[in-house]
Amino acid sequence: MEEKILSSILNNLKDGLIIFDSSKTVVFINGAFEKFFDVKKEKILGKKISDFFELERLKYLYFLLGENLQEVSKRELEFENLVLEVNSFWAKLNENQEEFFVVSTRDITREKSAQRLKSEFLSVSAHQLRTPLTSLKWSLENLFGEKMGRLEPLQKEVLKKALESLERISILVQELLNLSAIEEGKFVIKKEKVNIEEVLKKGIEPFDPQIKEKQIQFEMEISQKLPSLKGDSEKLKLAFQNLIDNAIKYSLKGKRVLVKVCVLKDALEFQIQDEGIGIPEKEKEYIFEKFFRASNAIKQNPEGSGLGLFFAKKIIEAHQGKIWFESEEGKGTTFFVLLPLKN
Ligand code: ADP
Repeated sequence: MEEKILSSILNNLKDGLIIFDSSKTVVFINGAFEKFFDVKKEKILGKKISDFFELERLKYLYFLLGENLQEVSKRELEFENLVLEVNSFWAKLNENQEEFFVVSTRDITREKSAQRLKSEFLSVSAHQLRTPLTSLKWSLENLFGEKMGRLEPLQKEVLKKALESLERISILVQELLNLSAIEEGKFVIKKEKVNIEEVLKKGIEPFDPQIKEKQIQFEMEISQKLPSLKGDSEKLKLAFQNLIDNAIKYSLKGKRVLVKVCVLKDALEFQIQDEGIGIPEKEKEYIFEKFFRASNAIKQNPEGSGLGLFFAKKIIEAHQGKIWFESEEGKGTTFFVLLPLKN
């Protein structure tokens, strides 16, 4: 009775299920799996994973799991207008029993297409905003530079504020363009020789006014001549700028911000240290998620997109590197970046 109930549940699940025994032979498939892969139970039961190589849709599953049936988590399979999310694992019922390999497939076609539409909308809107922004910037800069007549101090002050706001919008638009490029898989990372010291030095230039205004003691400590890396200078600059920008932004007035680089055996280690507001313990796990901003950061600085760290992580990981942090609320934060020298 129990077996019948279980079998009926499994057969009527919306997710497709296929189970292999330890010899990699199919012992079970359910209705949804038959539908997704356009196969009949009778034809598939008893077949081995290696036979999938020759079968129409099932070959995609073979390419994903391999002959050895590897465990995968949230991997996507796309074929014939269908997008499936695949999870798989080896399961043992108890110590002495045989192992089974369970594969579940979920139809995420609608979610994916909604995501694509959102991403396209984002990309088109951001592109459309670029031209009027450039023209607006040109006009305001000309006015501010008194090319169309002298201005009263108050008028100049108002224009300066307008230009600053415009700069913030331009940065946000660029961030949205980067985001849609990442989401569409079009975020290209170049492989060129990178002079990382120059990247850092050029990267901090735009922050001079903020450093002065907040009276930050900014220091850069580079222990020895840095070997060059293979990678994308512009993208790495963006990643470090986001980290340095945060260190300054979330620092307290008059405190120290230190950028330190050490040469390890086969990697470079970067530390960006500040003595600022820190990251609340409960919010640490979300810090690299897109659009996430911690509660104390919102309070201290209401402006901010929550995209900087998301980009930094994507860029560092695209260079086979790692990024992590240590932080104590109210005391300060150190972001660490490890970039391999041979990638
Ligand atoms: P933004 O700075 O625009 O909010 P980020 O993606 O760069 O977005 O950072 C996400 C969040 O991580 C910030 O809102 C803040 O809560 C936290 N954070 C990042 N860097 C620091 C730092 N140096 N000190 C304290 N909090 C930080």
